[in-house]
Amino acid sequence: MNVITRVFKSLFLLELLRGLRLTGRYLFARKITVQYPEEKTPLSPRFRGLHALRRYPNGEERCIACKLCEVVCPALAITIESEEREDGTRRTTRYDIDLTKCIFCGFCEESCPVDSIVETHVFEYHGEKRGDLLMTKDRLLAVGDKYEKEIAAARAQDAPYR
Ligand code: SF4
Ligand code: SF4
Repeated sequence: MNVITRVFKSLFLLELLRGLRLTGRYLFARKITVQYPEEKTPLSPRFRGLHALRRYPNGEERCIACKLCEVVCPALAITIESEEREDGTRRTTRYDIDLTKCIFCGFCEESCPVDSIVETHVFEYHGEKRGDLLMTKDRLLAVGDKYEKEIAAARAQDAPYR
């Protein structure tokens, strides 16, 4: 750009006017700012949020401690310990998911043969102290109990990522 052009642009504040034109255009455009948390954007049916462990309608835990989810987890976020019960079935004695490691890939959910570990659409959670984001078996089951209706409905509709 030659000197004359630069002086001309500078003298007539052309850059400033171009900026103001852009500002003016957006001043009257439809506003897209979402006032979260009062307003929320729609969630994709494929969204993967907080994990939950599900039960059967009779209250029995679905998880059979096969450990497929633990093996498949690329972030090594799942820790499972198990034992055989008196009736010969196997159940977990420990099932932890460390959410600070989890990358929400959904592999655990995909691998589960009994639809036990699932990812809900819950994303509004946080931790304030050490350990708050370590989801223990009890906490995972509690999430499952709380959102079972929603989870079952999503499964019935055959959510795309299933
Ligand atoms: S979503 Fe992925 S990273 Fe997170 S626990 Fe499951 S398998 Fe591991
Ligand atoms: S949650 Fe599913 S994949 Fe993981 S140990 Fe239990 S039954 Fe196996």
